[in-house]
Amino acid sequence: MSVSRLSALMLIPGLLLANSAQALDIVFDYRFDRSGWFSEDSSAGLMRREVLQQAASVFSGFTDNLLAIDASAGNSWSVSFQHPSWSNWLEQVTVSNLLVPENSLVVFVGASSFSGSVLGAAGGGNVSAQGSQAFLDTVAGRGQAGALAAVPTDVAPWGGSIWFNSYQPWYIGLDDSGLAAGQPDLLTTATHEIAHLLGFGASAAWDALVQNGVFTGEYASAVYGSAVPVDGVAAHWAYGVEADNLMDPGTVPGKREYLSALDYAALRDIGWQVSAVPEPSTLSMLLLGLVGVFARWRRKQSQRF
Ligand SMILES: [Zn+2]
Repeated sequence: MSVSRLSALMLIPGLLLANSAQALDIVFDYRFDRSGWFSEDSSAGLMRREVLQQAASVFSGFTDNLLAIDASAGNSWSVSFQHPSWSNWLEQVTVSNLLVPENSLVVFVGASSFSGSVLGAAGGGNVSAQGSQAFLDTVAGRGQAGALAAVPTDVAPWGGSIWFNSYQPWYIGLDDSGLAAGQPDLLTTATHEIAHLLGFGASAAWDALVQNGVFTGEYASAVYGSAVPVDGVAAHWAYGVEADNLMDPGTVPGKREYLSALDYAALRDIGWQVSAVPEPSTLSMLLLGLVGVFARWRRKQSQRF
């Protein structure tokens, strides 16, 4: 990474935050980290937590007002999702009446070892709720009217889960100067997975803008010059759309990648409010692994609500 690009990386989140009415807060929950990959008792675990916080900060310029999901007498909800430290791919866990603070997403994280090239996976699980119509609307829409529309124009996730493949030889630094050839970068993958939890390639609002293999959102189309080709499962950009997009289907080992102007524009298209849109040349943050399959799985699950 060049020096100029690094400074842009550090600058953008703060710039966006300064103009925000409030900042989107991503709250990591480690209760299902049963392998201790994020253990506070180890320097590596602490560093991994720091890397996650850095990835979350990329999205702090999103200014949507998200209502809290707060169960009460007569109103309850639960969500079942892939265990973030799964011992088999289908292992699920259910959490009931999770408190999701306003303007926050709760993201359960963990890791387990899988001898394959997949770096990580993210999903929003299968939500169910019972109670008043107002409560049901809050769980599904969090005050974002467009998320409740027949053809959704907005997203309002509660959060989700992210699994990291501890089999991989991760680089876990904040500064990428130690990132070696062939090494996957935790910051890059974490940012990519969070973007999926925000609905990139994995929401009804995204689906509504995908037609015939292209993403038709107006902001993304303006950045790209036309509707943007997506991959075979419409969870990412197609390979080769542009170099350096974080939301490509795969990541290049030994390279840190950042949210591109195009990635950012697509998040705007699915309803995220951004107080300032970085110039394409200065965009920062993110990216990732072979997570398309799981992203699609999440879409199917989430639509059962
Ligand atoms: Zn992905």
